[in-house]
Amino acid sequence: MRRAVLLIVFLNFTLAAVASRAAEVKDFRIWAGPDKTRAVLDLDARVDYQIFTLDNPSRVVIDLKQSRMTGAVHLPEDRSSGALKRVRHGVRAQDNLRVVFDLGEAAKPKSFLLDPAGGHGHRLVIDLFPESGGAEIEPAPSWSPNPERDVIVAIDAGHGGDDPGSIGPTKTQEKNITLAVARLLHKDLNAMPGIQSFLVRESDYYIAHAERYEIARRKRADLFVSIHADSFHSPKPSGSSVYILSRRGATSEAALRLAEGENRSDLIGGVKLNDKDDVLASVLMDLSQSATLESSNDVAGAILNSLKELGKVHKHKVERANFAVLRSPDVPSVLVETAFISNPKEEKKLKDPSHQRKLAKAISQGIHDHFHSMPPPGTWIANHRQPSRHIVASGDTLGGIANRYQISVDRLRQVNKLNTDRIRVGAVLRIPNT
Ligand SMILES: [Zn+2]
Repeated sequence: MRRAVLLIVFLNFTLAAVASRAAEVKDFRIWAGPDKTRAVLDLDARVDYQIFTLDNPSRVVIDLKQSRMTGAVHLPEDRSSGALKRVRHGVRAQDNLRVVFDLGEAAKPKSFLLDPAGGHGHRLVIDLFPESGGAEIEPAPSWSPNPERDVIVAIDAGHGGDDPGSIGPTKTQEKNITLAVARLLHKDLNAMPGIQSFLVRESDYYIAHAERYEIARRKRADLFVSIHADSFHSPKPSGSSVYILSRRGATSEAALRLAEGENRSDLIGGVKLNDKDDVLASVLMDLSQSATLESSNDVAGAILNSLKELGKVHKHKVERANFAVLRSPDVPSVLVETAFISNPKEEKKLKDPSHQRKLAKAISQGIHDHFHSMPPPGTWIANHRQPSRHIVASGDTLGGIANRYQISVDRLRQVNKLNTDRIRVGAVLRIPNT
């Protein structure tokens, strides 16, 4: 008898506990990318859910157990909703919430739950992949009848979509700054003969780090440039920095923290980190990364030199840290922290279109200098370059450089006001045309 009473008490308690665990859907967000449309339900707790599709017309149905909608659900008016035409929701029996996506065309959903990260709480992410296969991926040119191909530059605007990146004191989001600068850089580079660039991310959506450098590899890029804005917990630090990959540790404590922060994007942007990719990457890395790193270092030095002419730099040397987005084994890759978005003065500058243009100009000038100094064989630049500047690489000697540009060592010394034959790696030498 006593045992029965206890059991009843226990049951009551369990029911009460379950009822109080009902999850709330607090917000609904959506981003349309070329390959998929991503919808995110912001929750206050983990939920049990089921997802299935219905045809004629195409719909995706999500049933969330013990949940209720407390946020507003509507599609953005100022930008594309991708595959989604409409979102509806209603309460079903036993406090179950049903959310229905009405689709413009059939799409396969892929869904997963994310735990709190980077200022976001629990999330249910639903990616919709168009059944028609999505955006066409351009086949890589396997053979070009033109022996003077263009140099290809992949421009990666950091963050995007559900990952805003760092946020400035007046709420400027890094993802918008990086996209603005990336678009200007794209324009500047395409205006240079012998250089073709493309944007890895074209508007406001998230792409996983590994996918970003895969896009660059598929398009056979000669260079991958990732654009970011730095952030610190104090408003003081300022200036630009340029980074390349280091898997063996960062050049400073700040570089280590920065890389950890940037790498967290994949958690915020809703990608489950895959160890397998990393193992593969490190195997490939041993085969080809040292040459790639050397090129990365040269181009990073050229960009840093050019940024020094624009204004204050944060660090005078190219920095190294383990950034996930720079792990391409065979495409030289650099990451530019344009300025500190956490510094009120620099946040203001970063928002200013005329400063954005100056940043893009400086970065494109650095890229130009690098390729005119070390053009990949078979490119238009290799045959037509008229270098005005040479960036000293490791192993360079004054005699070697003079020989390369078919001028005398004396002339090279004279225009650069050199008293000795000693030259510093990363220094920029003026190369006279005659
Ligand atoms: Zn960033």
